[in-house]
This record gives sequence, structure tokens and C-alpha cells, in this order.
Amino acid sequence: MPATKPEQKPRLVVLGSGWGACRLLKDIDTRLYDVICVSPRNHMVFTPLLASTCVGTLEFRSVAEPVRSIQPALSLLPDSYYFLARCTDINTDQHEVHCEALQEDIDDGKGEGGNKFSVAYDKLVIATGAEASTFGITGVHEHALFLRDVKNAMDIRTKLLLNLMKCEIPGTSMEEKARLLHCVVVGGGPTGVEFSGELSDFIRHDVHHKFAHVKDLIHVTLIEANEILSSFDVRLREYAVNQLTKTGVKLVRGMVKEVLPEKLLLTDGTEVPYGLLVWSTGVGPSPFVRNLPFEKSPGGRIGVDETLKVPGVEDVYAIGDCSGYLERTNKTVLPALAQVAERQGKYVAKALNKMAKAGEGHAKAHITPADPFVYRHLGSMATVGRYKALVDLRESNKSRGLSMKGFLSWIVWRSAYLTRVISWRNRLYVAVNWATTFLFGRDISRF
Ligand SMILES: Cc1cc2nc3c(=O)[nH]c(=O)nc-3n(C[C@H](O)[C@H](O)[C@H](O)COP(=O)(O)OP(=O)(O)OC[C@H]3O[C@@H](n4cnc5c(N)ncnc54)[C@H](O)[C@@H]3O)c2cc1C
Repeated sequence: MPATKPEQKPRLVVLGSGWGACRLLKDIDTRLYDVICVSPRNHMVFTPLLASTCVGTLEFRSVAEPVRSIQPALSLLPDSYYFLARCTDINTDQHEVHCEALQEDIDDGKGEGGNKFSVAYDKLVIATGAEASTFGITGVHEHALFLRDVKNAMDIRTKLLLNLMKCEIPGTSMEEKARLLHCVVVGGGPTGVEFSGELSDFIRHDVHHKFAHVKDLIHVTLIEANEILSSFDVRLREYAVNQLTKTGVKLVRGMVKEVLPEKLLLTDGTEVPYGLLVWSTGVGPSPFVRNLPFEKSPGGRIGVDETLKVPGVEDVYAIGDCSGYLERTNKTVLPALAQVAERQGKYVAKALNKMAKAGEGHAKAHITPADPFVYRHLGSMATVGRYKALVDLRESNKSRGLSMKGFLSWIVWRSAYLTRVISWRNRLYVAVNWATTFLFGRDISRF
């Protein structure tokens, strides 16, 4: 797509369709910009509820919001598009992004490679997120499952149900059954803890009735090198440890050295056989971000200034997990959270709308400096299973503020996320899924 002419609307190109990108797409004024969204995922994932889909508490559909529903102009306006593709490179001198159409979805994986194309931009926002950190540990990519998007959650659910059914096949040894039904979670952050809690609920409520022959063999182990939920208030952490232990989750303090097909090795020499291994040890920059020729933040993300602009190049912004403040800004490092990405998307949309209104929307126009982005942490929540949750409303790294735990917190957790789910359609799906799970148990069909 060639560069826009001065008489045309300026073109905004957005890379990604996650929390940051979708908030930006929702808030951008499409009367002022033509918008092109490039992403290999045609939907946004409501990640806080993703762990619930792995065991069937929620259906996958309930946590996925199509990009075209979030910003209808992508389908309706003649010069606005969503492209199912990934960006491979950015030429900031030419003001264009180079992209590759998603091979497996476009040509079923049989062709030479996805179509390559370029899109010229007036303004570019990079919101391509991060990828799971493996710390270079051998075997993680080959044998562990990650929990980053809906496909991952589907794989986890399939494997869990497959292992349960394999155990009932005549001729399976007791040792093999114990291995197949050992679910190991590595990483004790909110995602690892919530997933462990969901698994233990699934075991208590559903495996006990629907897989009664093997119910005593299934176990969950959570391995963490330091403390679980280290960013939460210490009282909440202790509570989480007690709750998880009560629900049968075994907590192991240890570091993984190597992952083999059916067991993992800890640095102290312990061998841990597993049937399902879920890896959730935080995130780091993706190869795409690492290869971009921009100055990087201390964590290796795209370095940005106080206004989320990439310094040294014109008209490029970076938001969410793919970006970080440059060291020289002296700003506090922001956590890799949906609430950060979403608020950055909102901030950049507002700034871009203002620019276009001031006639600064086209490429290389003089830009009036914007007010800096200010982040205020609204708090963190996590469920720990058995209708219990933690709500930590302290400002980050400060002891001021409310923190609570237990059943009431679980109600707060559910209500908060139900209201935050993007569309009314998904809000209804989530509410109906919760009600059906409560009344009839989780779905254990394997497709
Ligand atoms: C299971 C789970 C639970 C979580 N729970 C919470 C929570 O409770 N609260 C909270 O605040 N945060 C939570 N998070 C973190 C939160 O989801 C992330 O911080 C947030 O998604 C970051 O948003 P983002 O827009 O930067 O990236 P993402 O949401 O990861 O989106 C990145 C997008 O970029 C696309 N992309 C990648 N590469 C390219 C490319 N080369 N070209 C074009 N597009 C590309 C991807 O397909 C994706 O659409 C959770 C994360 C997970 C995985």
C-alpha cells in the first residue's frame, strides 16, 4: 500500500491485536485516520480468564474478541483493513512496514511462503507483546506447553483429558498412570498460581465424579525458584500458600535445569516425571522486537520516551509488553500487565487524535509535544481455587492500600472481570459458562 497523499486521510498502522492495540483501535477516531491493523491473531484474548478455559470452566469463545468487532471501521471503511499477517521488518526512512501473510492460514501450509507485502504509514504503533521466557533451559520449547493464547489453552485441555483417558486403558502400568496424571506447573506468578487453582478445582469437582477410577492418582505440583506471587502483599502470599496446599497442590522450591520428554530435572538433582507440563515463568522480548534496529530499554524491549514515542525515528510509538522506558528517562519500569498496555493504548489514541485535529496526522509533520504518560497501578487480583481469591489494591511497591482475601475477594474477582470483558456478547458467554459449570460441572469432551 503506497504512502498517502496530503489530500487523503493520514494512515495509522497498528501492529498487534492484544490489549494495547485493541484499546488503541477502540479509541482512535476513524473520521481522522484510515487504520490498518496487522496481526497474526484476528482476535484479542482476555488473558485474565484464559486459565479458566484450560479445564473447561469457561469455553474458549468466551475469552476471544474479534478485532473487527472492536473496531468495525476495519471492515466498513474503504481504506481501513485488518491483515492476517505478521510484521517482519520496519523501514523508518521509507515510513513502511514489511509484512508476511500467515502461511498456514492463507495457503494451508503447502505454498512457498506467505505473501509478502508492504504498507506505508503516517503513524505507526507497535504493540506486538512479548513471548514466554525460557531462560535458555534445554527442552522447554520442545516439551512444555505455554499459556499465552487460546491455542495454548486448547492444547492444555486436550492433553489433560487425553492423559486421564489413557490411564483407563487396560495394560497401563501404575507407574505410567502416576506419570501421566502428574500435572506440573513451572512458575509461581499469578498465571501459574491461577492455573494450579483451576486444576485443583477441576480435580475436586469433576475428576472425582467423571474419572473415579483414576481420581486418586492425579496430582498437581507447582515449582517456583523463589516465592510464589512475589508482587503481592506478604499476608496474601501466605494465604495463597495455605489455600493451594489445602487443595492438594504440592509447592516445590526449586530451579529447573533441563526438560526431557517425560520428566524434568531440577538443579539439586531431583527428577520430576510429568504427564502435563505448563511453563509460566514470565515474559521477555520476542525475536521480532530483538531484531528491530531501535534503542532498547534495560530489559531488551523497544525503548520509549515519556510520551511512548520511539526516539530517533519519526512517527513511531511502542506500547504494552513489547516496550519499556529508556534508562535515561529515569522512569520506573512498568510491569508486563494488561492494565499497563490498555492504558498506554488509550493514551496514544488520545494523542494521535489530538495530532490529527491539529493537522499533524501525516508523516513527518511537526508534532506538538504531548503530556507524558502517567501510570497509576489499580491493584492486582488472582484466584487460588475453592472459590477463594486475593485482591491487592496497594499502590505498587508501597504498603498503603487495601488487601483482602477469601470468598468475598473471589466475588470481587469475578465481578471485576465480568464487567471488564470487552463485549456484551462475551459477558453473556462468561456468565452462562460460569452458571453451567456450577450446575452441571465442566465439559470433558475431547475433540
Ligand atoms: C494467562 C495470562 C493471564 C494474565 N492475567 C493478567 C491479569 O490478570 N492482569 C493483567 O493486568 N495482566 C495479565 N496478563 C498479562 C497481559 O495479558 C499482558 O500484559 C498483555 O496482554 C500485554 O498486552 P500487549 O498488547 O502488549 O500484548 P499482547 O496482548 O500479548 O498482544 C500482542 C499482539 O501482537 C501480535 N503480534 C506478535 N508478533 C507480531 C508481529 N510480528 N506482527 C504483528 N503482530 C504481532 C500478537 O498476535 C498479539 O495479537 C496475563 C497474561 C497471561 C498470558
